Amino acid sequence: MSDNAAVPPADSAALVSSAYQQALEVIAAVEPRVADATRQELADQRASLKLIASENYASPAVLLTMGTWFSDKYAEGTVGHRFYAGCQNVDTVEALAAEHARELFGAPYAYAQPHSGIDANLVAFWSILAHRVEGPWLEKYGAKNVNDLSEADWEALRHELGNQRLLGMSLDAGGHLTHGFRPNISGKMFHQQQYGTDPETGLLDYDAVRAKAKEFKPLVLVAGYSAYPRRVNFAKMREIADEVGATLMVDMAHFAGLVAGKVFTGEENPVPYAHITTTTTHKSLRGPRGGLVLAQEEYASSVDRGCPMVLGGPLSHVMAAKAVALAEARQPAFADYAQRVADNAQSLADGFLKRGARLVTGGTDNHLVLLDVSGFGLTGRQAESALLDAGVVTNRNSIPSDPNGAWYTSGIRLGTPALTTRGFGHDEFDRVAELIVEVLNGTEAGTTKAGTPSKASYAMADGIADRTRAASAELLDKHPLYPGLELV
Ligand SMILES: *Cc1c(COP(=O)(O)O)cnc(C)c1O
Repeated sequence: MSDNAAVPPADSAALVSSAYQQALEVIAAVEPRVADATRQELADQRASLKLIASENYASPAVLLTMGTWFSDKYAEGTVGHRFYAGCQNVDTVEALAAEHARELFGAPYAYAQPHSGIDANLVAFWSILAHRVEGPWLEKYGAKNVNDLSEADWEALRHELGNQRLLGMSLDAGGHLTHGFRPNISGKMFHQQQYGTDPETGLLDYDAVRAKAKEFKPLVLVAGYSAYPRRVNFAKMREIADEVGATLMVDMAHFAGLVAGKVFTGEENPVPYAHITTTTTHKSLRGPRGGLVLAQEEYASSVDRGCPMVLGGPLSHVMAAKAVALAEARQPAFADYAQRVADNAQSLADGFLKRGARLVTGGTDNHLVLLDVSGFGLTGRQAESALLDAGVVTNRNSIPSDPNGAWYTSGIRLGTPALTTRGFGHDEFDRVAELIVEVLNGTEAGTTKAGTPSKASYAMADGIADRTRAASAELLDKHPLYPGLELV
């Protein structure tokens, strides 16, 4: 395997090129517009400075694994216990994905079926409810399983199920929609409260989380984030969960690659501390688009009920690709990649700070930075659009107590996993910070028709978009995406 799994070794680049060339010809014979869009997507990804913190580039081996006849197979159930005949090969790949996940993360149990991160969280929620709530209740009603309950008892149980409490990190502090946000099902199926970050420092305040947990007494304490630029001490979160009798669920969707690559170890590794850990496989972990659930042994049987509880038939082709990606992540080269992701985030943060920009929490110690763009006189929406005009792909993001709300926002979230896969290092990320600061300095907020300040429109100084595109093209050409992969 090459030093960097997403870069095919020279001797295999010709093979990869011919595999895609032929696949696209087969597709073009049926619907040429799909083949064209697929080629164009590669060209566009190659030509843009991708700083979206949740995105990455999977290896050709991972991508190719998804395009097979495993897609045609139904396999509801679990390895060795399927509701469909002929699942022996699905069993092989699902068992491999789970084994690699257990070994990679040191988890007692792994479930490879979730189709996405949200699905992994739904499996975890229902598994926690089933494990923690159904058991004692069934005893209370003198029933062995739900089928033994009278209609009235079932009604009472269902009511109680829908009134359990969940405490998660708020969206504007960096939490995820699925951590109890009202418009998400997690905020509707649970009675929810949220913890935030310290208003002064922007850092997680464990004493405040503890105080809230003691008062609220949640069944589920959720830790993990999508836009918090710091590490979390999961031993402390577990201590808090234990003090109030809660189940600790950690959603490591964003930073699973840093756990896999042993950048987050000890109390910063959630897996030994959480009862259940969920993740996506396509962000810093650099696998196919999908989810995983890791659990302590006592939750294994309830996690296994994910399908058909909340999941449809497993995506066997994606589980096969998860097995390939997790095998890659077990290679020493992946640990090196993960360390560079973290080092590069440091370089990016330093690049902003030395040019006078403000970062939420004053910096980073993971794979992302949250740039407060209010100092440039812009909203997140204006900054995101101006940067996109200049070929820099980011996403706007709320900052703590955001005066511009969740739509316009005051922040830009930037992550290093994708460009690190392309081989960017310290100097390139310092240059990226320089380019972003130049674009934002050269952009002004527009005004509405009524003459008031607009939160969406903006004006950029002449020539700056073209200059930035040319400067990023220079960086991108030095670090090509899928080098040697050529299509005619
Ligand atoms: C991205 C993310 C998810 C959702 O993943 P999908 O695959 O898009 O469903 C869940 N939780 C966190 C913390 C995330 O960052």
